[in-house]
Amino acid sequence: MPETTTRETLGFQAEVKQLLDLMIHSLYSNKEIFLRELISNAADAADKLRFAALANNALYESEPELKVRIAVDKAARTITVSDNGIGMSRAEVIQNIGIIAKSGTREFFQQLTGDQAKDARLIGKFGVSFYSAFIVADRVTLVTRRAGLPAIEAVRWECDMEKAAGQYSIEPTEKPGRGTDVILHLREGEDELLDEYRLKAIIRKYSDHIAIPIVMGDEAINQASALWARPKQEINEEQYIEFYKHIAHDFEAPLAWTHNRVEGRQEYIQLLYIPAQAPYDLWDRQQRHGLKLYVRRVFIMDDAQQLLPPYLRFVRGVVDSNDLPLNISRELLQQSRDVDAIRAGCTKRVLDLLDELATNQQEKYATFWQQFGRVLKEGIGEDAANRERLARLLRFSSTHADSEEQAVSLADYVGRMKPRQDKIYYVTAETYLAARNSPHLEMFRKRGVEVLLLFDRVDEWLVANLAEYEGKRLASVARGDVDPAEGAEERAR
Ligand code: ADP
Repeated sequence: MPETTTRETLGFQAEVKQLLDLMIHSLYSNKEIFLRELISNAADAADKLRFAALANNALYESEPELKVRIAVDKAARTITVSDNGIGMSRAEVIQNIGIIAKSGTREFFQQLTGDQAKDARLIGKFGVSFYSAFIVADRVTLVTRRAGLPAIEAVRWECDMEKAAGQYSIEPTEKPGRGTDVILHLREGEDELLDEYRLKAIIRKYSDHIAIPIVMGDEAINQASALWARPKQEINEEQYIEFYKHIAHDFEAPLAWTHNRVEGRQEYIQLLYIPAQAPYDLWDRQQRHGLKLYVRRVFIMDDAQQLLPPYLRFVRGVVDSNDLPLNISRELLQQSRDVDAIRAGCTKRVLDLLDELATNQQEKYATFWQQFGRVLKEGIGEDAANRERLARLLRFSSTHADSEEQAVSLADYVGRMKPRQDKIYYVTAETYLAARNSPHLEMFRKRGVEVLLLFDRVDEWLVANLAEYEGKRLASVARGDVDPAEGAEERAR
C-alpha cells in the first residue's frame, strides 16, 4: 500500500517553533480567532473552486453546493473544519502549509518587540493564519484532496507540536469528497470550545460575512450572502471590520472604508478599505497588492493590480463587476477600457474618502499620512488627472512648527504667506535634521517666511512634478530662487 511506503516526515524552517510559540502567546487572549482564520481559508478555497469550475464544470463532481462544515467530537476532543472547495495536491500542501511565514521570516523576527499587542498585529500580517489552529490545538491533522484528482490521491498532513514541533508528516490517503478537512485535537484545558453554543456564537461574531453557508449539523449559522452585495444599512460596523480582516489577511481593524454601488456605463460594486497600518512590504512594488475581483459574485482573482493605480497600492477591498466577462484574465484586464473606467471610479472613491478624513477626521488623516503619505506622494507624478486633488491631500513638515511631523497642507502654507510673497518655498534634504539645519534657511527664518522641509526620498520626484499650487509656484530655496521683491522688503526693514 502506498500509505505505508510513502509516509514522509519533513522539517519546518528552523525559526518555526519559535514563531509558533510567540504566536500562541501573543494571540491567546483572543484565541477564538482560530476559527475565523480556518473558515476564511475554507471560503477562499470555495471561491477558487467556483472559479476553476467556470472552465471545467466537472470539478463540481457530485457536489455543486459549496459550504463549510464545522463538527465537534466531544469524546475525541476534536473540532473539524471542512470545506468542499478546491483542495490541495501533495505539492501544494508542502508549499502552502509546510512553509510558514513564507516571505521573510527573518525580517519578521527582527520586527518583534515583545509587546503582545504589537506582535499580534505583525503575526497577522505575516499570513500564518492556518497556524492559528495551534493556539488551541496541540495536534492538527489536515486531510485534503484537490478537486479533479481521484479519491486515492488525497493527502494527509499532520503536525504534533508536543511530540515533534519542528516536523510534520505527510502521506497519501483516500478522501471521497473533494476539499479539505482540518482536524484540531484540542490542548488540555480547552474543552469549553467543544460546546456548540460557544462555537456558533464565535461563528456569528467573526464569520457572518462569509458568502457561503457555514453549517453545524443541519443548521446554517451565518447569513451566507456576499457582504458587499448587501444593502449598506443592513451591514453593521463589526461586519465591515471582520470582512476586511478576511480579505486583507490583517488582524487589525481598518482605518476607514467606502462602499458603493456604481451605476452607469459600467455597473459594479466597490468596497474599499484603508488599512490602519502599512504592511511590512509596502515598499516592495512587486509584492501583492490590488483588489479582489469578482464578476457577478464569482471570484475571479486576488491582487487585481489593474483596478487601482500603484500609488494606491495600500488599499484593500473588493470590486464586483456586472459587465466584465467571466473569463477575464490578467492580460485582458490590462487592455480593457471597461477596466480603465473601473480604475478611475475606484481612484475617485478613495480620494473622496481621503478628502473626507482630511476635512472631518483629522486625527485619522494624520494616522493615514504617517503610514501611507510617502506612497500617496507618488501619485503627484503618476496621476496627472488627479494632481490637483492629490496636492490638496499632501502634508509636509515646515519651519512653521519646526517639527518632523508632516502636518502642514499647501493650503495652510498659502494661508500664512507674507503679503508680497508669491512662491511656496521648500528645501530638500536626506533627513529631517539636515533639512531643518540647511544653511539656505537662514534668510527665510530671519524674514519669517515659512519653508517646507522635504526629506522623503520621493520628494525630489514630487517637486519635479508639482510646478505650482493654486497659482503659486513651488521654489527651492537652494537654487537662489528667492524673490527679489522680498529681498527688497527685507532691506527696507
Ligand atoms: P494565508 O491564508 O494568509 O495565505 P495560510 O497559512 O492560512 O495563509 O494558508 C496558506 C495557503 O494554504 C493559502 O494561501 C492556501 O493556498 C492554502 N490553504 C489553506 N487552507 C486551505 C483550504 N482549506 N483549502 C485549500 N487551500 C488552503
